[in-house]
Amino acid sequence: MTAAAADGPGIEALRQAIARCRICRDAPQGGDAFRLPHEPRPVVVLSDRARILIAGQAPGLRVHETGLPFNDASGDRLRDWLQVSREEFYDPDRFAIVPMGFCFPGYDAAGSDLPPRRECAPQWRAAAMAAMPQIRLVLAVGQYAQAWHLGAQRERSMTETVLAWRRHLEGVAGVPVLPLPHPSWRNSGWLKRNPWFEDELLPELRKRVKTLTG
Ligand code: SF4
Repeated sequence: MTAAAADGPGIEALRQAIARCRICRDAPQGGDAFRLPHEPRPVVVLSDRARILIAGQAPGLRVHETGLPFNDASGDRLRDWLQVSREEFYDPDRFAIVPMGFCFPGYDAAGSDLPPRRECAPQWRAAAMAAMPQIRLVLAVGQYAQAWHLGAQRERSMTETVLAWRRHLEGVAGVPVLPLPHPSWRNSGWLKRNPWFEDELLPELRKRVKTLTG
């Protein structure tokens, strides 16, 4: 992603440091067997103006190839949940987009995306959050983001954590966290089994998005 002109020097320096990161390629945790199988390409939108942070999982292959976060069917579903256009979604005045792993992690033996690289959050996440003190709502998309942003406050499973969304809106360190399932097509069955998500959570999400991005 390109830098927006209005970003401050701190966030621009962090953006450049992330763009140079090669940890998972050059010094992977666990040694050679865990080396990132391709060149790193961090896909992250830092912003010192957006009031909503989308904390996702990790880029998929299409996002890796295009450098545009949520540039896939999951992104289309997420934009529908938020009720925003692509133009609004990719506006750093409205949304920061910081996944738990910034680079596409590759596939496992079954052909599914691997989890976010475990090196990434310890290396970058605290600095990214410190650089964006204006964030007023964190959308914790999927179990990895919920684990980091809710810590001990999350429930035992992703479903229970999302079900407890009203409690999490009370906030962690004063910032409301709204846990969401990943918008992947793999979760279509989950959405059918949990109609309260569309009936109760999405209206609250849309109301807050409208208020914070309007
Ligand atoms: S996933 Fe994160 S830690 Fe690993 S190379 Fe990419 S930016 Fe660096």
